[in-house]
Amino acid sequence: MPRIALPNKGRLPEDVRNLLDDAGLPIRGKSERCLTASLGGEFEAIFVRAQDIPEFVADGAADLGITGADLIAESGRVLTELVDLQFGKCRLVVAVKEDSGITSLSQLTGRPRVASVFPRLTRAFFEAQKLVVSVVPVSGAAEIAPHLGIADIVVDLTSTGSTLKVNGLKEIATVMDSSARLIARDEVASQSWAQELTLALSSVLRARSQRYLMANVPKDRLDEVRERLPGLNGPTLSEVLGGGRFVAMHAVVPAAAIYKTVAALKACGCEGILVTRIERLMP
Ligand code: AMP
Repeated sequence: MPRIALPNKGRLPEDVRNLLDDAGLPIRGKSERCLTASLGGEFEAIFVRAQDIPEFVADGAADLGITGADLIAESGRVLTELVDLQFGKCRLVVAVKEDSGITSLSQLTGRPRVASVFPRLTRAFFEAQKLVVSVVPVSGAAEIAPHLGIADIVVDLTSTGSTLKVNGLKEIATVMDSSARLIARDEVASQSWAQELTLALSSVLRARSQRYLMANVPKDRLDEVRERLPGLNGPTLSEVLGGGRFVAMHAVVPAAAIYKTVAALKACGCEGILVTRIERLMP
């Protein structure tokens, strides 16, 4: 059975579990202390630290993995990225003390000490900027380093910016944008089960941002309705038995546009408007 490495704690596990559930691969047999589980009988899941997942996949301890793009990049290992899972969104940023008066990289002088859990990415970033720094690798809580006097600046992950703020730091540059990714070892990326999982997860992600819309549309206002419908497919029309001047319309519409679309349909005299979620969407 192919093996997939999943994060065991922290920010990613809940979203990973929800995604796999929606894809029809529920995590079975995982008690709090369980280190392995079956994914719908198709994959064996192993639960490990998010940081270790790129190494485990690259070294063959697992065939596939789900972890942050930041950790994948930091590992420096050659891996195939199969899907951007669109959760765990964050940015790796350069931050300085709020009261430092520094607002951009160009104001950094001397050889600033940079604390980071991401020493490889930090070095590569400052090298590309042609700035000489000395990197202070830490294994967590980099944001405290400037206050302890062991670093002048930090390279750290942020999503809302609130942790930086609480710690008296402000960002001055972005090193990279990150989100969770499905990764595979190069040799397994073309296997049918890796492709099937890619398709399943992509179809769930695509479906999340769309809604299925049904409505009875007055036949004489069809053109108007078509013009007001955003989105990719359709609409599909079908006769309504005894429907008189109405036809039934089905369409897939971006979730972000559903509020306005329903109002527009109503204004066009549509009846029986129904909106549902879609579980999977494959183009
Ligand atoms: P953690 O659960 O804190 O060990 O972080 C695991 C991964 O979650 C990170 O490597 C990022 O890919 C992702 N992540 C998403 N949002 C954040 C955030 N605000 N701070 C840190 N990590 C984040």
